[in-house]
Amino acid sequence: MAYLNDNYLKLKAGYLFPEIGRRVKAFCDANPAAAQRLIRCGIGDVTEPLPLAVTAALHKAVDEMGARATFKGYGPEQGYDFLRAAIAKNDYRDHGIDVADDEIFVSDGSKCDCGNILDILGGKNKIAISDPVYPVYVDTNVMAGHTGEANEAGAYGKIVYLPCRPSNGFIPEPPKKHVDVIYLCSPNNPTGAAATREQLESWVKYALEHKSVILFDAAYEAYISEPGIPHSIYEIPGARECAIEFRSFSKNGGFTGTRCAFTVVPKSLNVQTKSGEVKPLHPLWNRRMTTKFNGVSYIIQRAAEALYSDDGKAQVRALIEHYMGNAKVLRAGARKAGLKVFGGVNAPYIWVRTPKGVTSWQIFDKILNEANVVITPGSGFGSKGEGFFRISAFNSRANAEEVARRLQELKW
Ligand SMILES: *Cc1c(COP(=O)(O)O)cnc(C)c1O
Repeated sequence: MAYLNDNYLKLKAGYLFPEIGRRVKAFCDANPAAAQRLIRCGIGDVTEPLPLAVTAALHKAVDEMGARATFKGYGPEQGYDFLRAAIAKNDYRDHGIDVADDEIFVSDGSKCDCGNILDILGGKNKIAISDPVYPVYVDTNVMAGHTGEANEAGAYGKIVYLPCRPSNGFIPEPPKKHVDVIYLCSPNNPTGAAATREQLESWVKYALEHKSVILFDAAYEAYISEPGIPHSIYEIPGARECAIEFRSFSKNGGFTGTRCAFTVVPKSLNVQTKSGEVKPLHPLWNRRMTTKFNGVSYIIQRAAEALYSDDGKAQVRALIEHYMGNAKVLRAGARKAGLKVFGGVNAPYIWVRTPKGVTSWQIFDKILNEANVVITPGSGFGSKGEGFFRISAFNSRANAEEVARRLQELKW
């Protein structure tokens, strides 16, 4: 009989969102009337339609694909030059950040990139991951066999967890001990916290001293509203020698269902072989992409390119202002309900402390049953997320206002 990958059996049963889905379905089946007024502020998925600049580019690209003279088959695995150039110029060089076109690798999502990056990193690395955070970093390391078993609280052996608490503003400090690979997510999902320049400088300093690699997930960079907060890890001198950056069009352009993202791998980022030889990671990621990926569809890359047109930029701004307007409404509502509220300023997520003695899943059930609102229990993002819950601002304004109202009606 063939063998399976035993590492998958270490994964905690019921990944967060399936468990939420199960509870919501059970509730709706049992309470059809309440189901009618259900508002979902759970999963971090956008709600507003694609910007007009994008749908126009999609239509045009579809027509090109339908005509012999402009039809395209396989494209470059790394992404079309037009999109790599638009990204490197608009997201980096126009901001004084040194990133070359061929350091951009276009993909069908940051979730895949965050997981796939482990293909080119060794199995013996000591891995540090913020807690709480986007569950993909931990789970992909479990699948790759980089961890021990999970304990009761869901923390895996061998991973160095970086606690994110109110006392450190939910931004972890570099550990005292040595780690090789560091996952940072700023602005953070789920806490909404964004790292300051000084905080990122301390991480880059640590990574250069320890010869570690920082995996920097900037999926929410477009939501940063406070001046001075870095939008890219490469704003920090030295980061080109120690960091990979993940970005996505999912949250800024509303591409969660359209699928396009990119990873920046600087050519100056080196790591070592088993025997201690120093080698760049860029050729490995290039090799990985050309071997295991056949590129994002031409149509979708044209759509992503349209986000960088003048119209596209203005429409993205409007989308973000819409969601951040919701965040403001939700923050105020939760605060008026007597809750302690974090985030929602540089990210579309409000991170809320549960009342004393109430667990994340207990408050999930209470808010579902009594307010008919779906939130996300903090414990699903890591053991340090226990005692918190996340409200997503991805919604219509009417829904955000209604949720803010219902939260204030709850008896705590
Ligand atoms: C939504 C999200 C992404 C984007 O994932 P895609 O696969 O590009 O849709 C990446 N990182 C975090 C932390 C996210 O919340």
